[in-house]
Amino acid sequence: MVVDTHCDTLKCLISEFTKPRDSMWDYREGMGERSDMGHLDVPRMIEGGVSCQVFAVSSERSRTRPFPLRTAMLMIERFYIECEAIPQLEPVTSYQGIIDAKGRGNVSGMLSIEGADVIEGRVEMLGVFHRLGVRMVGLVHSLRNQLADGVTDRRTGGGLSELGVQAVEELDRLGMIIDISHLNDEGFWDVMEHGNKPVIASHSNSRAVCDHPRNMTDEMIRALAENGGVMGMNFAPPFVHPEEATLGGVVDHIDHIVNLVGPDHVGLGSDYDGIPYTPKGLEDVTMMPDITKELVKRGYGKEDIVKILGGNHLRLIKEITG
Ligand SMILES: [Zn+2]
Repeated sequence: MVVDTHCDTLKCLISEFTKPRDSMWDYREGMGERSDMGHLDVPRMIEGGVSCQVFAVSSERSRTRPFPLRTAMLMIERFYIECEAIPQLEPVTSYQGIIDAKGRGNVSGMLSIEGADVIEGRVEMLGVFHRLGVRMVGLVHSLRNQLADGVTDRRTGGGLSELGVQAVEELDRLGMIIDISHLNDEGFWDVMEHGNKPVIASHSNSRAVCDHPRNMTDEMIRALAENGGVMGMNFAPPFVHPEEATLGGVVDHIDHIVNLVGPDHVGLGSDYDGIPYTPKGLEDVTMMPDITKELVKRGYGKEDIVKILGGNHLRLIKEITG
């Protein structure tokens, strides 16, 4: 079972993000047909052997997206329209849902929020997103919001706000996975202090391997692991290697994390369709099996490979969402 805890494919499907409004994303009709644009659609997911993909609902405010809550709603609606149109794609909200979809020979999609400013100051809104099927929530999307400071706020070093702490408590209560990717270091430590459950870094790598503020220090990785958490390896080239990002470079991050905290805390979080270019050897989701080949080549045993490709993420999803 391969589980990938982050992609931005929903951005390619709504006009708020696509060209000519936003320069990064080409508009696509849907995920049901194999496309030569971007990195991920359902036929390519199946070819790449991905069983469950977490689809991010992005929320950051911008000139072309002045109403983040509306944008988030449109993305969630679009996700369900895709699931209705594509028989092989099932929306899931739990571990069992992922297993059942796989049993029917289908792939599954789970919703996450990237930047909880869409709650517009009310923690009760997290319950609304839970009812809409969202099961993973990042408090911030790099820029400071009402809940926390993001990685862009490194110099002033604020962590979570009171609302951010309340959101952590509410997410724990609701059974939604807290995603610490995009938080600054202070925010990460605040989540460690105030949360009671394992958390995910859905798409973050090791800072010791590649010095980037979106990656995690060894101290942070140890704390995440002690708490039972999992990190999904991000394929964004600047987070993989400062000069030349390759598939082997992604596996170097896996090696480092396994050496540091063992094989139970690392997985995949590609960031496909959220990155303008990819590492060599990981041009789209169909290349995922080459990660397995590289792990085999480096001497990983079957049990550890199963954990890294998805077993660890599944353990976390089971523990938090049921
Ligand atoms: Zn992101």
